[in-house]
Amino acid sequence: MRIPLIAGNWKMYKNRKEACEFAEAFKKIYRDTDIRAAICAPFTQLDDLVKSFAGTGIGVGAQNVHFEEEGAFTGEISASMLEEIGVDYCIVGHSERRQYFGETDKTVNLKLKKLLRSTSITPILCIGEDLRQREEGQEKKVVASQLEKAFSELSAEEAGKLVIAYEPVWAIGTGKTAAPEQAGEMCAWIRKTVENIYDEETCDRVIIQYGGSVKPDNATEIMNMPEIDGALVGGASLSPDQFMEIVNF
Ligand code: PEP
Repeated sequence: MRIPLIAGNWKMYKNRKEACEFAEAFKKIYRDTDIRAAICAPFTQLDDLVKSFAGTGIGVGAQNVHFEEEGAFTGEISASMLEEIGVDYCIVGHSERRQYFGETDKTVNLKLKKLLRSTSITPILCIGEDLRQREEGQEKKVVASQLEKAFSELSAEEAGKLVIAYEPVWAIGTGKTAAPEQAGEMCAWIRKTVENIYDEETCDRVIIQYGGSVKPDNATEIMNMPEIDGALVGGASLSPDQFMEIVNF
C-alpha cells in the first residue's frame, strides 16, 4: 500500500530562528495520521529540524545534493553528509535547479543513483513540462523523456523506492494550479510510463505527488484524484497552519 507524502519545499526561505519557530508551532498542531509529512529546508536548517522533529514522525528533506562522494567541489554537499545528520528525503531535479543552476537529466540520474545506492535517503524526483511544451501538446512526451533519462541504469528495485513529483513548471509559484483532472491524468501517465519502463509491481510502488500552487483550498480536490499520492508544496509550506491544513486535506 502506498502511503501518501505531503512534503514542503521551503526553497531559500527561513533563517535558523524562523525554522525553529516553525518546527515548534508545527509540532503543536501536527497529528500523526496515515499521511506522511516532511519539510525540505535549506541546508543550514536541516540539523535543527532533524533534532526538533525527532520522534514525531515528521520527516526532513534537503533540496539538492552532489553526486560524487567527496572531492574538490566547492560549495557542494554530499549524500553521506546529508545522511550523517539524519535527513530522510532529498529533492532532485527541481525545475528551479534545472532553470537556474544547470541541472540536467544526466546530473539528475547521477544524483538518484548516488542517493539510492549509498544512503537510505528517499529521493523526490521532480519532473514536469513548461508552458510552451504544454501549449504545444508535448507534456506527455516531455515527462516520459525526463523519466526515461532519470531512470537510466536504475534497477526496478531502486526505481520503486522513488517519490516522483509531477510539477508543471507553469504552475510553480504562479498561483496557477493544474486542474485536478489535468494533474490526475499526468500522474496516471507517469505511472503508466514507469510500468512500461519496468513492470506493474514497480509502478504500484512509486509515490507520485503533484506540485504547483497547492494551497489549503485546492488540496482536497487534488489529493482525491486516484493516481495522486501526495503533494510537493512550496509557498504554502512556509506557514505551519496552512501546511497542516494541506496535510489534513
Ligand atoms: C515547489 O516549490 O515545488 C512548488 C510547487 O511551489 P509552489 O507550491 O509555491 O507553487
